[in-house]
Amino acid sequence: METVSIIKCETYRYEAVEKAVNDCLENLSGIKSVVKKGSRVLVKVNLLKKNAPEDAVTTHPAVVEAIVRYLQGLGCSVIIGDSPGGPFTVKRLTGIYKAAGMLDVANRTGCELNYDTSAVSIFNEQAQKLKHMQVIKIATTVDFVVSAAKLKTHGMMVYTGAVKNLFGVIPGLIKAEYHLKMNNAENFAHHLIDICEYIKPIFTVIDAVEGMEGDGPSAGDKRHVGLVLASENPYALDTAAIGIAGINPLEVPTMKVARERGIFSGELKEISVRGIQLKDIQISPFKLPRSLNKSLLSGIVPRFLEQFLVRNLRAKPVFNYADCISCGECERGCPAKIIDMSSGKPIPDLDKCINCFCCHELCPKKAVDIKKHWLCRLLFR
Ligand code: SF4
Ligand code: SF4
Repeated sequence: METVSIIKCETYRYEAVEKAVNDCLENLSGIKSVVKKGSRVLVKVNLLKKNAPEDAVTTHPAVVEAIVRYLQGLGCSVIIGDSPGGPFTVKRLTGIYKAAGMLDVANRTGCELNYDTSAVSIFNEQAQKLKHMQVIKIATTVDFVVSAAKLKTHGMMVYTGAVKNLFGVIPGLIKAEYHLKMNNAENFAHHLIDICEYIKPIFTVIDAVEGMEGDGPSAGDKRHVGLVLASENPYALDTAAIGIAGINPLEVPTMKVARERGIFSGELKEISVRGIQLKDIQISPFKLPRSLNKSLLSGIVPRFLEQFLVRNLRAKPVFNYADCISCGECERGCPAKIIDMSSGKPIPDLDKCINCFCCHELCPKKAVDIKKHWLCRLLFR
């Protein structure tokens, strides 16, 4: 049985968050036996892009501060870091740390912020797909990684939490290359699991005080959940968080692949919950992203026809030029390199689109919408 700790936290008022995070982590028995005084720990936050804490896109600074202080209380020296979407540069990190409240956390706690944008090449014999990978250097020079994730829906992967948060150890635009290589959700899930198995965070906290539903991970709607969750096992933690969000775990590619690979079953009966029990958490199911193509045709039409329809009718990004400020973030972040900005506005070659929705994720103005073909709306949910 894997322990997942769940504590109520209705507000981001620091005292309340600190108590919730401490109570949550005190329920996990293994942390103190692993972490030694003097350990260097990377707190890998979810920063994605330049957003304010109240946008519910990034891990809230109050949650990050509480994790930092908890680790400092154990005698650790702490570094906050992430490789957000887009280029991994000091300038970009500086702006994002400031906007997301991480600079304030560092000033208040005395912890470090990572500005080292170098990457190292890793060979991981145990990986199933990603044996060779590039990783941000800081993730390889610390004694431990702690993951500080956010509960959100995700246009390509349905849900993002503990496992998906670790994709941020892949540096900047190399993420886009990996997206291109793994251009379907199942393949991508294998790679995310290879990354998670390599990083092996000592524990993960999910900030679910305010989550995101609908067109997450950046353009959805804020959703109040009022919880902080933690576990030493990221798959068990995701299983609990997915259950709370009312999502079927087998619709989440990372859970499905983790089950197939024998890493974690995705079943609630494998979890021992400490704190608030799942049956006592009553929230209506999260709205899912519009980009998902859950087929209503399975078993009704031949598989080849279903796949043909999915391929040809799937959702596409649509650019709203009235809101576009021509910043070029979508062009730089497009893994398939099919967005042309030569006219001053982004023009995508949709025939080559791999439906990753990175453009939708990275746009600072929510100017990239997700549009489904009318027939797709009829045949797929
Ligand atoms: S669509 Fe968004 S990301 Fe792309 S250029 Fe316009 S504002 Fe920037
Ligand atoms: S246009 Fe958007 S959805 Fe299509 S490949 Fe590029 S970033 Fe991905």
